[in-house]
Amino acid sequence: MSALFAVIGNPIEHSRSPLIHQTFAEEVGIELTYERIWAPVGGFSEAVKTFIDRGGRGMNVTVPFKVDAFELADQHTARAQRAMAVNTLDFANPEQILGDNTDGVGLIRDLAFHDVPLTGRRILILGAGGATRGVLAPLLAQKPAEILIANRSPERAYGLVEEFSANQDETTLRGCPITDIDAQPFDLIINATPASLSNSLPPLAANVLGAQSVVYDMAYGAEPTVFARWGAEHGARALDGLGMLVEQAAESFKRWHGIEPPTARIRALLREQIEQ
Ligand code: NDP
Repeated sequence: MSALFAVIGNPIEHSRSPLIHQTFAEEVGIELTYERIWAPVGGFSEAVKTFIDRGGRGMNVTVPFKVDAFELADQHTARAQRAMAVNTLDFANPEQILGDNTDGVGLIRDLAFHDVPLTGRRILILGAGGATRGVLAPLLAQKPAEILIANRSPERAYGLVEEFSANQDETTLRGCPITDIDAQPFDLIINATPASLSNSLPPLAANVLGAQSVVYDMAYGAEPTVFARWGAEHGARALDGLGMLVEQAAESFKRWHGIEPPTARIRALLREQIEQ
């Protein structure tokens, strides 16, 4: 029987993770079974236990269970510890479940894929939830000149600034209310809010964009998101989070199988599917 993997979430029916992992497996010539598992809120650990009892070897974890997965894991990688959220569980030793977080590396690799420079640049992040927490350390490691976290509830932004400011002095890290963003251009604006999923746009003035700015929406869809459209209409280069999804999956795949899969084919395939 081939090794058993799954993605767990609520909702889960539209997850593209099975297709991504099956495509990786084909590319590198291994066999695996990859399922979608829906769990009720409050039923995460029970669902994981059942999966392990069926011989499950690893799991991706999506909304709303990333913090539950962090709490369930017996050990954490350093990046999961910093993010305090887990999107990848490894059951190689079911008595010592390992939790990892590959979202941050997924974003950095996607930005690199699109040749978006980070070192010495000014970055604005909208949102201060789990996704921002997961990408902050990998972004800081690229030594941008500044990261400004703007959030609807500003105290969450200030909390992240306090937590992530230690031991790094090359980047100015600040927080602010989303309604009070500096009126100066940023090189990169990352939308880490789910606003696009309800077709709404965080309150932004066009003066946060400069001639070379890039806007990156972690959300994605068949059409350019409302945030991507806003950026493009103001002359920015607009990217969405489909590549981040693929790259975080590639990093999970590498953890479980020890092989880094190529991502070009699945990037193209997903884009085609999503636009149909
Ligand atoms: P969380 O629920 O943890 O955080 C959401 C954040 O967005 C909070 O800071 C919240 O503010 C803010 N927010 C929510 N709605 C609005 C709104 N309408 N206007 C302005 N701000 C808003 O979510 P995550 O951080 O886990 O995820 C954020 C997004 O990133 C989601 O769309 C998710 O799908 C996407 N994502 C994509 C990935 C990929 O691979 N492409 C990977 C991970 C996430 P407040 O604090 O005030 O509530």
